[in-house]
Amino acid sequence: MHQQALSAATAVSAGDEIRVLDHGFIRVVDLMGDDQAIVQAARVSYGRGTKTAREDRGLIRYLMRHWHTSPFEMCEIKLHVKAPLFVARQWLRHRTASVNEYSARYSVVPDEFYVPTGEVLAPQSSDKKQGRADAVSHTAAEFIRKRLKDHVKTSYDLYEALLGGDDTVGGEGVARELARIALPLNTYTEFYWKIDLHNLLHFVRLRAHDHSQYEIRVYAEAILSIMERWVPFTYEAFVDYRLGGAQFSRLELAALRRMLGGETVTAENSGLSQREWREFTSHFALGASAA
Ligand SMILES: Cc1cc2nc3c(=O)[nH]c(=O)nc-3n(C[C@H](O)[C@H](O)[C@H](O)COP(=O)(O)OP(=O)(O)OC[C@H]3O[C@@H](n4cnc5c(N)ncnc54)[C@H](O)[C@@H]3O)c2cc1C
Repeated sequence: MHQQALSAATAVSAGDEIRVLDHGFIRVVDLMGDDQAIVQAARVSYGRGTKTAREDRGLIRYLMRHWHTSPFEMCEIKLHVKAPLFVARQWLRHRTASVNEYSARYSVVPDEFYVPTGEVLAPQSSDKKQGRADAVSHTAAEFIRKRLKDHVKTSYDLYEALLGGDDTVGGEGVARELARIALPLNTYTEFYWKIDLHNLLHFVRLRAHDHSQYEIRVYAEAILSIMERWVPFTYEAFVDYRLGGAQFSRLELAALRRMLGGETVTAENSGLSQREWREFTSHFALGASAA
C-alpha cells in the first residue's frame, strides 16, 4: 500500500499528514465535531436519551444502520490534498465539497510527476472493463517506468521552454495558462477540500471500493485511517454496515430464503441475471449453485 497511515495511538489534529503515492499527501487542515457532536445532534431529534459511551456507540450504529444521515453532517473536515491530475479529476466529481485548487494560470507548476511502482503496473483486466490484471514482469516494469520518466522530462522541458521562450520555441514565450497544456496527466496538483462527514462517508464508500482505481483508493484509505482516530464509533459502524456489509434486492432476499429453507438455488432458477447472480454469490464465495 503506497500510503503511510497515522500511528494507531495518535488522535487526529490539524497539521497531521499522511504521505500517499510517490509525492502526494493528505494533510488535515481543520476539523469540526466528533462522535459526540453526532450523538448530540441525534438527541435533539430523539429527545432525552443516551448517556454512556456504550449507548453513544449504539446510537451511532443505529443511525448508520438506518441511514439517518443528517447527524453525521454536524462534523466537517478540511483537508489539503496533493494528488496527480488524473486522481484529482476523479476526486472533484464529488460535488458535495468546497474546493480551492492550485492555479497553474497564476503559478508555475513544480516538476513533480507520479510514476507508478512495478507492483501496480499491470495490463488491462480481461473481466473488468475499468480495471487491471496482475502486475507486469519486473523487466517490463523497469522499461515502462523509464519511458514514463523520459516522457515527463520531455514534457517539462517543453513547459519550461514555452514559459521562458527559448530558441526551441522560436525565442518567444507564452502565458502560464497556455504553457501548462504541455504537461501530462500524472502532474501533481494541490487543493483544499472541505466536506461534511456524511458526504465524506459517501466519497470513501465509492473510492475505497476495489472497483475504484488504485491511485485514488490509496487516498480514500488514508482518509479512513484519519476517520478511525477522529470519529472512532462512526468509523467502526461505517466499516461494519457499509464497507463490510451488503445490500440485497427483493429477488436476492427471495433466493436467500429459499436457500435457508434447504432448496438448491441456481443462477437459472433464481430469477437473477447472470451478472446479478455473480455479484450476489460473491458475497458468500459460493459456486454456480447454492443449497
Ligand atoms: C468506480 C467508479 C467508476 C466511475 N466511472 C465513471 C465514468 O466512467 N464516467 C463518469 O463520468 N463518472 C464516473 N464515475 C463518477 C460517478 O459517476 C460520480 O460522479 C462520482 O462517484 C460522484 O458521486 P456522487 O455524484 O454520488 O457524489 P457527490 O457529487 O458528492 O454527490 C453526493 C450525492 O448528492 C446528490 N447530488 C449531488 N449533486 C446532485 C445533483 N446535481 N443532482 C442530484 N443529486 C445530486 C446525489 O444523491 C449524490 O449521490 C465513477 C465513479 C466510481 C466510484
